[in-house]
Amino acid sequence: MACPAESAGSAVTEKIEPPAARPRIGVHLSTAGGVFRAAERAHEIGANTFQIFSSSPRMWRQPKIAADHCAQMCELRERFDVSPLVIHASYLINVAAQSDTVWKNSIAALRGEIGRALELGAEYLVLHPGSWRGMTREAGLLRAAEAIERAMDGLAWQECDFRVLIENTAGAEFSLGSNFEQVGELVEKLRPLAPVGACLDTCHCHVAGYDIVTSNGFEDMVAQIERLIGLDTVRVWHMNDAKAPRGSKLDRHEHIGEGTIGVGAFRRVLNDPRFRHCAFVAETPVDEPGDDARNVNVLKSLVGRAASTK
Ligand SMILES: [Zn+2]
Ligand SMILES: [Zn+2]
Repeated sequence: MACPAESAGSAVTEKIEPPAARPRIGVHLSTAGGVFRAAERAHEIGANTFQIFSSSPRMWRQPKIAADHCAQMCELRERFDVSPLVIHASYLINVAAQSDTVWKNSIAALRGEIGRALELGAEYLVLHPGSWRGMTREAGLLRAAEAIERAMDGLAWQECDFRVLIENTAGAEFSLGSNFEQVGELVEKLRPLAPVGACLDTCHCHVAGYDIVTSNGFEDMVAQIERLIGLDTVRVWHMNDAKAPRGSKLDRHEHIGEGTIGVGAFRRVLNDPRFRHCAFVAETPVDEPGDDARNVNVLKSLVGRAASTK
């Protein structure tokens, strides 16, 4: 775990099983009742990793998280062996924004996100790389890198096991990161400035046009990930089936195995030794109570089963 308050010794003794023996599988969870409650929820539904928002994802307001809630988060995660903790940044943040007002608000909001992530001992903060509308893509990329550097400036991330993960997007016009080239470019620009990595979303890959469904397509996609981003750079897979067809650029998540991707692709990602170091986190819809647990169970049931059998 990344909690700065924790001694290195206890963090080391915690890791008994090699990651290969027990893949990290979880889901995005609510923080209702206190942020630490999400760690309990994760354990209750049989997840050993999870994602949360640390603020309302559609408001600029920056909440302060009480120190005792941060301490409880660390304590519960250690007790239940729930790791890594992934925080998803607010959807309002656009680090590539042309408007100076939006750009400055985005830097302040991202700085708040990183501060709360460090206080909570989160390993990862997932960030959508933003929209370069009104500029050239290259200018947007430079602006995004500068914003992230400014947001991190002076924060004590060096002592923490923490990374900002750039997520690939569904391919909307002007969005940075709709292909692996762009995710890789931004990660490379940021590497000297900040601790970075990538988060890949199965639904976004599929609707952006990558073939994640057939075994040949999947191999080709992984070869591109290796060449353009780097396999070690990928730390989190967002495990979402898709409501929309491949190439549609429509970002609508579906329950695992019930969408246009199908269960085979999830089996392939989960059992691929090249992604053994990754955490697998669903952001599937909750149409009925218990859907989060159900999707986690579907993912867990796919572990250790050959990818070729349907
Ligand atoms: Zn995602
Ligand atoms: Zn999405």
